[in-house]
Amino acid sequence: MKPIIAANWKMNFTPKEGLRLIDDIISQPISSDVDIIFFPSFVSLSLVSDKLLNSPYSIGGQNIFHKENGAFTGEISASMLKALDVQYVIIGHSERRQFFHENDTQINNKIHLALKAELIPIICIGESLQERKNEQTDLVLKEQLTSAFKNIGLDNQKNIIVAYEPVWAIGTGLTAEKNKILDAHNLIKETLKNIYNFNIPVLYGGSVNADNAASLINIENVDGFLVGGASLNSDSFCQIVKNVTKKIERF
Ligand code: PEP
Repeated sequence: MKPIIAANWKMNFTPKEGLRLIDDIISQPISSDVDIIFFPSFVSLSLVSDKLLNSPYSIGGQNIFHKENGAFTGEISASMLKALDVQYVIIGHSERRQFFHENDTQINNKIHLALKAELIPIICIGESLQERKNEQTDLVLKEQLTSAFKNIGLDNQKNIIVAYEPVWAIGTGLTAEKNKILDAHNLIKETLKNIYNFNIPVLYGGSVNADNAASLINIENVDGFLVGGASLNSDSFCQIVKNVTKKIERF
């Protein structure tokens, strides 16, 4: 399995600015041993998708609505993304859970709709600071996983990615300690394997940057990164990719 690096641009960049960043990144030599996925805003998806057609890079949407279609002004469906040659979609990002009050049922619906539209969901789970202080991390991760994977059939196992993103580490410059990341990734892999017999990639997200990527990628069971802030700059993003590549070269 190739390491995956997902670049979540969040609500940044006009289409022109996004294309400029893509140009900067693809002009640099990047190893084909890493799967890179860009997640631009909806208004940039079409242009970025055209730009990356027949390239080794993939693109994804940052969200979809939890219903298939209908009178839901301002929302975007899974099939709309698919029609733009989008391959991936982020589901259940903590910013969606926190600011838009997305609940576990909606997140499960979104996963079903993404899979039905043949999009690969990157399902984000992670504990809040309070939950961590209360030593509830394992419980929260298990609950989020169980509800996210409700009624998801075994045949989907090659089409799902999970991202462990401790909420308090996102956009804060704080990263989880290595042993906590190891524990969380082991727990996620074990839970899915035991209950669903799934063996799926688990990414780490939470203030990954050019300086810490090399050590974080060496943690066992970390299959790649979901990167926010550091994906907005071509130098820091390419350095993260290079650091991940160095790990591959050692094996
Ligand atoms: C994210 O958006 O999922 C994320 C991890 O952001 P950051 O890298 O900025 O913490």
